[in-house]
Amino acid sequence: MGVTGSKLEKALGDHFPEGERYFGFENFGNTCYCNSVLQALYFCVPFREQLLDYYSSNKNQREADENLLTCLADLFSQISSQKKKTGVIAPKRFVQKVWKENELFRGYMHQDAHEFLNFLLNELVEILEKESHKVTNESQTSSLEGIPNGPGNSQINGVKKEPLVTWVHKNFQGILTNETRCLRCETVTARDETFLDLSLDIEQNSSITSCLKNFSSTETLNANDKFFCDKCCSLQEAQKRMKIKKPPHILVIHLKRFKYMEQLNRHKKLSYRVVFPLELKLSNTVENADSEYSLFAVVVHVGSGPNHGHYVSLVKSHNHWLFFDDENVDMIDESAIQTFFGSAQEYSSNTDHGYILFYESTAADSKS
Ligand SMILES: [Zn+2]
Repeated sequence: MGVTGSKLEKALGDHFPEGERYFGFENFGNTCYCNSVLQALYFCVPFREQLLDYYSSNKNQREADENLLTCLADLFSQISSQKKKTGVIAPKRFVQKVWKENELFRGYMHQDAHEFLNFLLNELVEILEKESHKVTNESQTSSLEGIPNGPGNSQINGVKKEPLVTWVHKNFQGILTNETRCLRCETVTARDETFLDLSLDIEQNSSITSCLKNFSSTETLNANDKFFCDKCCSLQEAQKRMKIKKPPHILVIHLKRFKYMEQLNRHKKLSYRVVFPLELKLSNTVENADSEYSLFAVVVHVGSGPNHGHYVSLVKSHNHWLFFDDENVDMIDESAIQTFFGSAQEYSSNTDHGYILFYESTAADSKS
């Protein structure tokens, strides 16, 4: 490990970013799905900073209830406080906690990195919501009269409480709106839903922009799939369209590379070439104002099938691109990113394909 560390340090030389740490993660038997996602999250700087803030402000309770959030915070704090600039860390406690909390990730089978990311973010949200609920309840019982406009007030009055927006939401959550236009009366019904990541269908020789366009394309509901229009009080033909109402600060895009093939009765990996830009303009938003994003991490699936293979991640840190492969961390040239787009031919020797993309909004005010 010392050799890897010094190699990277030598490569960066005087450009080694002040205060930054580049640590590989030990693999506990097919835990690359976890390692690759953890690296992407660690280099999601606003997320890391808020997690470390959480860690330092909750130090006292930490011993009492260990959960995935405290284990993750512990791990990030362990990395950021290393004396050495590079090396290897064993995220053992965190991985053990994952295994304990979710039997699907237990054992040494190949796992899906996107499923893991989804599980992790939802779990973090749930823990934060529980904690906030606990605080609200405690403040209610300790001072029932309370402050008239205190946080618990809406509950006392039996008014529906606004959903809690945690710092995990503030980073990753966006809002989609599903607009349905009744073709008989032209009434548009909009239904909002939140998301922490977007899963996109992919096509051969395409791009993220075209995948997003397809995602927001108009779909006609007819025949057996009509829409119940409240105004017409009956099933009607309609046009449906999904748009991004509120773009998230961190936009996570999952490419649906593992597709269930009915004729094969199993999943197949799509090695399609899907170009992902370093700078992305999101145009399928409600306000039609372009939201601009910058790529900072890519989780790459290596291998030709869905049930085996390997995960690595590409991470941008202080304008350098790094390649994380479990214990190993190397520098990588920005121009090499395009080798992870996919293959234009079905059987290619290149099996390293971008699978989860992490973009950060370049607009300064998008965090709130
Ligand atoms: Zn109608």
